[in-house]
Amino acid sequence: MTDTVIININLTGKWIAFMKLLVTGGAGFIGSHLCEKLVREGNQIVCVDNFNTYYDPAIKRRNISGLLDSEQFALSEMDICDFDSLDMLFKRHAFDGVVHLAARAGVRPSIEDPRLYQRVNVEGTFNLLELSKHYRVPKFVLASTSSIYGNNHKVPFSEEDNVDYPISPYAATKKACELIAYTYHTLHQLHVTCLRFFTVYGPRQRPDMAIHKFTHLIAQGKPIPFFGDGSSRRDYTYISDIIQGVCKAIDRCEGYHIYNLGESQTITLKSLVELIEKSLDKKAILEKLGNQPGDVEQTYADITRARNELDYRPGVPIEEGIPRFVDWYKETCQTNG
Ligand code: NAD
Repeated sequence: MTDTVIININLTGKWIAFMKLLVTGGAGFIGSHLCEKLVREGNQIVCVDNFNTYYDPAIKRRNISGLLDSEQFALSEMDICDFDSLDMLFKRHAFDGVVHLAARAGVRPSIEDPRLYQRVNVEGTFNLLELSKHYRVPKFVLASTSSIYGNNHKVPFSEEDNVDYPISPYAATKKACELIAYTYHTLHQLHVTCLRFFTVYGPRQRPDMAIHKFTHLIAQGKPIPFFGDGSSRRDYTYISDIIQGVCKAIDRCEGYHIYNLGESQTITLKSLVELIEKSLDKKAILEKLGNQPGDVEQTYADITRARNELDYRPGVPIEEGIPRFVDWYKETCQTNG
């Protein structure tokens, strides 16, 4: 692919700037939805993904299969820990921005293999920041997480709350990424926006995540692991709302900012299971287990800052999102196996 210049077209009197963006982790759950949206809007996307086996890489290939024929989309199978290959990529393309989503995600596996999380999440982010500085990339949007709030007892969680007490290696690596990004902003004037996603769900959700896992097990008549007494609460964010927030963050990326992206509504584990049961029209078998180390008791996003500064307007409550997810699951996963 050759270098593209930003094209401005005048459409109904409005100037629209098309961008050339690097999306890391672009074949994943969130990344593939983002790439689709950005391509639909006319942007040029270079997707970096290493298709690791954290979950079946065939799922990731399927996620982006609809994009491969587009001239606006280029796939680079690459590891973000491979600095030299990334360097060549940055040299070849004059990126208008980086959206950095590639990471080892998941709290519990990070307790099993913390060094892997450190390498991919921290060193990989370092590589991308260093190259963004070197090649003077104007915008850097970084995926962070609600997990960094740890067992914050004050709700809802605000960006101004102290996040010095992460309770999993995953959360600690994401906090490290926010800090390193700040250093690049302050030393090298890189514009950085960190987005703290609150549990994201919807079509293509990672199979290891609770909503997907529960739906699959209930559909198969198998027991679901049910941690604690069911009173833990989560703020679940529908994928289209997250994508809306990411796109607005790309457009307005200037300075250094941190935003919560959630629905700002919480639901207990018990009620979540009931919603899935209702959508599947099938009862769950509960395998009751103790609380899991690393899991937080609740997440709840204060999204005032994102509302005011990004004009972020989430619109899919969990009561609508779960039936939509279950419909997708029935159409896609039950057919593809
Ligand atoms: P995902 O695993 O579906 O997507 C991540 C993608 O990154 C995958 O396709 C994977 O192959 C790729 N990747 C991982 N390591 C890589 C490496 N070394 N080099 C190149 N590519 C690599 O996960 P997701 O749920 O879409 O999450 C995307 C981002 O959002 C992650 O940074 C995650 O930490 C963050 N996040 C997600 C959630 C959520 O609820 N899904 C919540 C908070 C934060």
